[in-house]
Amino acid sequence: MTQVYNFGAGPAMLPAEVMKKAQAEFLDYQGMGAGVIEISHRSKEFDAILNRCDELLIELANIPSNYKILYVHGGAQMQFSAVPLNLLGRSASKSASYIETGTWGVKARKEAARFGNATTAASSADTGFDRIPEFDPSALPADTAYVHITSNNTLYGTRWHDFPQTGDIPLVADMTSEFLSREIDISQFGIIFAGLQKNLGPAGLAVVIIREDLLGNALEITPALLDYSVYAGSHSLSNTNNTFAIYMMGLVLEWVKEQGGVAKLEAQNERKAKLLYDVIDESDFYLGVADPAHRSIMNVTFNLAKPELLDTFVDEALENGLYALKGHRDVGGARASIYNAMPVAGCEALATFMREFERKYA
Ligand SMILES: *Cc1c(COP(=O)(O)O)cnc(C)c1O
Repeated sequence: MTQVYNFGAGPAMLPAEVMKKAQAEFLDYQGMGAGVIEISHRSKEFDAILNRCDELLIELANIPSNYKILYVHGGAQMQFSAVPLNLLGRSASKSASYIETGTWGVKARKEAARFGNATTAASSADTGFDRIPEFDPSALPADTAYVHITSNNTLYGTRWHDFPQTGDIPLVADMTSEFLSREIDISQFGIIFAGLQKNLGPAGLAVVIIREDLLGNALEITPALLDYSVYAGSHSLSNTNNTFAIYMMGLVLEWVKEQGGVAKLEAQNERKAKLLYDVIDESDFYLGVADPAHRSIMNVTFNLAKPELLDTFVDEALENGLYALKGHRDVGGARASIYNAMPVAGCEALATFMREFERKYA
């Protein structure tokens, strides 16, 4: 088997053990003579898979008992619609505040503006989204339905280290590119959502963790399959859910547990990121994109001081088994996405390659 270290931003690499387990069980799940992909979402076997996902998420993310876990169609961006549809009704003027730390936050705000008043409470657009902007929650109007943040900015390689304290106004976080990569106090949030394809499994589905008291405010126009109460009331089985994605996520969650849980992975993620940031900081050849005080440990972004070498960098990296290092088309440069599944050895190999590439071309 030939394997590359896959630094793609998403859909992203999954742990090799997970891929092998899925392969081994693909035709015959636990002696049923059928695969998970071809059995009913109402079968007792799938029910067990779903319950196990709940159990593992509660344990691994330390989810308090007043939160519901939902498995919602459409991935992360579908939640850009679902969040306002479910929460704007809390505000008499249907107002919500967005902190814009990158493309995803901007998109989320524009989507919410279809359904109410979505305003920008803070933005780092003027510095190219290279940091998390200053934000004073006490300046928010009292009639704010929620505040939306993107906890880790996949394109720019920044993250919130500490989260804003928004008091009675629920804080909503798009954690798509960092969920389960670091320990988070869930009780600070009204809603956390994450598309699966970065740290959890296949694309097209999102995990939504919502504080129970926020359910039941959906605007009348809300489609049933975007109404979080419908998911909460049916164990996310109001229609046929993406059973295979949930099964794959279950395997990933078992793997996270086997690794020793989120705290263990967080320490490893810090180490992995440092291997790459050290190369960037020690050189004038690589220029980090993110302000060092706001750096992500999931997406490491950098430019080359000689930008004309970027294609050569990406091509030679691939020849060395280092795949998908080109930055997002909106940002340019290079990006190494190093989610939970990326082994330390992958970051060591990239750091070594970067040093050699610099020696060759500086
Ligand atoms: C990848 C990503 C998205 C988009 O996810 P889709 O499932 O394609 O909608 C949204 N937000 C963040 C932070 C992401 O990293």
